[in-house]
Amino acid sequence: AFNFSAGPATLPESVLRQAQDEMLEWRGSGASIVEHSHRGPEFIQVAAEAEADLRTLMSIPEDYAVLFLSGGATTQQALIPLNFAAAGQTADYVVTGHWGKTAIKQAKPYVAVNTVASSEAGGFRDIPARGEWQLSKDAAYVHITANETIHGVEFRDTPDTGDVPLVADFSSSIASEPVDVSKYGVIYAGAQKNLGPVGITVVIVRRDLLERAGQNRADIFNYASHLKGESMLNTPPTWNWYMLGLNMKWMLAEGGVAEFARRNAEKAALLYSVIDGSGGYYRNEVAAAVRSRMNVPFFLHDEALDKPFLSEAKAAGLMALKGHRALGGMRASIYNAMPVEGVKALADFMKDFQQRHG
Ligand code: PLP
Repeated sequence: AFNFSAGPATLPESVLRQAQDEMLEWRGSGASIVEHSHRGPEFIQVAAEAEADLRTLMSIPEDYAVLFLSGGATTQQALIPLNFAAAGQTADYVVTGHWGKTAIKQAKPYVAVNTVASSEAGGFRDIPARGEWQLSKDAAYVHITANETIHGVEFRDTPDTGDVPLVADFSSSIASEPVDVSKYGVIYAGAQKNLGPVGITVVIVRRDLLERAGQNRADIFNYASHLKGESMLNTPPTWNWYMLGLNMKWMLAEGGVAEFARRNAEKAALLYSVIDGSGGYYRNEVAAAVRSRMNVPFFLHDEALDKPFLSEAKAAGLMALKGHRALGGMRASIYNAMPVEGVKALADFMKDFQQRHG
């Protein structure tokens, strides 16, 4: 079956098989990787390799730290103001979908949020042009959501925010194409879409930002302490970290982010062409220039067809196409691990369904 879930999402079969093979005993070490201490040489090696491979994959410059944390992307949305904004300082937020709103909700207790641009009035179908953003004078940072997982809207270019650090939620598009990390102050992402299993979160942060005082907070909420403790201030999610590492090796072996950008563009073009070519039978309402290449929400022309569409898709081995409850309709998430064949199968199914039910 092909699994179009938005996250936790599909993982490559070879990664799952390797994990299965190593589950009982990791590389002749006498124990499973889930049984080894995070302080032992076995896991230290796994953790170091995962970081090195992620750095290679994303061309992360040396002046950026990489943290492997738990708590998901949502926790980072609260930690970001605590770490990078002084009490009472303003931070600028650009809202292009559901997750931009979540970021504000989590930040609000700690920072004066200024929503500098929002596409909510238009139903989150576009991204407000950079020229329309009214940035604050002394903002601690500017926050964007690189790819809106529910609304299917993505930034195609990195907006220029001058000297104000750009903080970006890349949960659903990290490592899906080459990105110039040096244009960002912070990139964060829950792993469960493009990097590995749920339970581990990657935070890539320009080192000088870690010198900011931020606000009074417990050590466990302090990114600088996490860096000093090598992301092991407390017991880290070792299994998830290990799985992420296997997935990094798979992505490198497949040709890296340039190759995934190529495949992702091909998959997205195929799906949008079926939708746009259906004469209104299917529709996607997002402005073409900002359509997501990771999450493709679409609607059938008649809601009464939703149920048969989903049940017939499932019977055809096409899983998890139900749209998010906030939007309804359908959504196909086509992350790195979704093969081109999976999207071809979905495209064929959609055309066939239209013929049979049209
Ligand atoms: N940000 C984006 C763009 C997401 O897609 C999600 C989850 O789907 C989140 C944040 C929340 O992530 P988590 O569940 O890891 O906290």
